[in-house]
Amino acid sequence: MSRVVVVGAGLAGLSAASRLVADGHDVTVIERGAGPGGRNGTRRADGFTFDTGPTVFTMPHLLDRAFSRLGRDRATEVPMTRLDPAYRAVYPDGTQLLVRAEIADQVEEIRTRGLARDAAAYPGFVDWLEQLYELEMPNFIERNFDSVLDLMANPAAAAKLVRLGGFGSLQKAVSGRFVDTRLVRLFTFQSMYAGLAPSDALAIYAVITYMDCISGVWFPEGGMHAVPRALARALCESGADLRYGVAVGSILRDSSGRVAGVSAGGEQLSADAVVVTLDLPTAYAELLPDLRPPRVLDRAVWSPSALVWHVGVRGAPKPGVAHHNIHFADAWSESFDQLIKRRELMTDPSRLVTIPSLDAPGMAPAGHSVLYVLEPVPHLGAGIDWTAERGPARERLHRFLAANGYPDDIVTEQLVTPADWAAQGMAMGTPFSLAHTFGQTGPFRPANVEPRVPGVFFAGSGTTPGVGVPMVMISGELAADRVRDYLGGQR
Ligand SMILES: Cc1cc2nc3c(=O)[nH]c(=O)nc-3n(C[C@H](O)[C@H](O)[C@H](O)COP(=O)(O)OP(=O)(O)OC[C@H]3O[C@@H](n4cnc5c(N)ncnc54)[C@H](O)[C@@H]3O)c2cc1C
Repeated sequence: MSRVVVVGAGLAGLSAASRLVADGHDVTVIERGAGPGGRNGTRRADGFTFDTGPTVFTMPHLLDRAFSRLGRDRATEVPMTRLDPAYRAVYPDGTQLLVRAEIADQVEEIRTRGLARDAAAYPGFVDWLEQLYELEMPNFIERNFDSVLDLMANPAAAAKLVRLGGFGSLQKAVSGRFVDTRLVRLFTFQSMYAGLAPSDALAIYAVITYMDCISGVWFPEGGMHAVPRALARALCESGADLRYGVAVGSILRDSSGRVAGVSAGGEQLSADAVVVTLDLPTAYAELLPDLRPPRVLDRAVWSPSALVWHVGVRGAPKPGVAHHNIHFADAWSESFDQLIKRRELMTDPSRLVTIPSLDAPGMAPAGHSVLYVLEPVPHLGAGIDWTAERGPARERLHRFLAANGYPDDIVTEQLVTPADWAAQGMAMGTPFSLAHTFGQTGPFRPANVEPRVPGVFFAGSGTTPGVGVPMVMISGELAADRVRDYLGGQR
């Protein structure tokens, strides 16, 4: 039995651990925080419970897979419901559009807004998204790359991606299908999850729209943090050793340069392989300081960051308000230019308001609600002084809540800024890591193998396949595949 240490109990680490346990390894997960989850964390204050990171949970089959590897049923361990609507979109002219779970309901939603032609186009759009998804997942996302040539491992798939227009502009591909610009915004804003403006994103990233709008948005019973909590529990019960409140200080190597273990909390733990899930630049700076980080980081393009305002309020939202409410600003391409190209605060920002207490009333005291307001802001490369800016930013968010009819009688609050993300070890103060430009995707993204220290592998959003809950779950599996190949090769 080989011993494998996983550094970090975020979703990437937990996903890696589940596969490593299933592969028969002796697995130790070391987490510096007080519990599992990492960015998918939780915070309690004044009787409220706040999910601190992801709110839009997609692709639950990846979680099913992690539990089934441990002989568990995800539906029992983390019951969840599909949100319908997945989003309520609110436009500057006061109109609204819902993202519905069923295709027929979405067609009807578009039709009842007086958009008969766009309603008729919707099933064809879904078909296109499904084809992209089915092509991209096995060939380009759920696989390890050893070289750029691997992109052509399945030439038929690459050719089909070209035929589907995957290498054209996302903005153009979607606006070619819908007349109404509100729908174009609704089905392209997801590129922001990959750190890109829709006009700069390739159409291959429409796969995120598929995950969001077609495959569906889910909400775990009790809130998002139920996911890492349950997975960590299942791992413990399956024999993994999860240690909290202990930071890994260094990676140990033997005389041949191979990994030999880690030092953590004054103890040296030997290991045959180590999976590191810290934000990648931080992993190199803190755990492998003598190694030059991958070259792509020298000229890295970082995703924008986010302000997240957690608010516990008296009262309930008015009828019709959804779990996820996206408020589109009037400005569109100008906003992306400001945010991404000029690295300025958007003068007219779009914002996401999530109200988890609508579906998990236990997250707030009776008669109260939990609000989570997210505004994209530039990463720390912009040089904004967040000590000075946090007060005005908080006032703007408060005015926005009141102006949009949300309850705003505040009991408790916390504003998280890019400076706070940086203090948690996230490079450039962004929790969304490297943007998914073509040059930072697939084989061009920092690899999950460190050949200079055989036995060290990476998972998490800084390596392949990328950012977000589904991608980091896959990254854990890909790292575990690397461990399997490495240890198999040693026998
Ligand atoms: C505000 C916000 C909103 C988001 N919204 C969404 C969303 O709606 N949908 C979506 O899919 N994704 C979303 N994401 C992205 C998603 O949450 C992340 O991509 C994912 O959770 C990252 O998981 P990870 O395991 O790679 O990293 P992390 O969760 O950061 O895990 C790394 C772990 O390593 C630990 N660690 C660090 N240093 C050490 C050390 N030296 N020793 C031991 N442990 C250490 C950390 O404490 C942490 O627990 C959001 C993220 C944030 C922050």
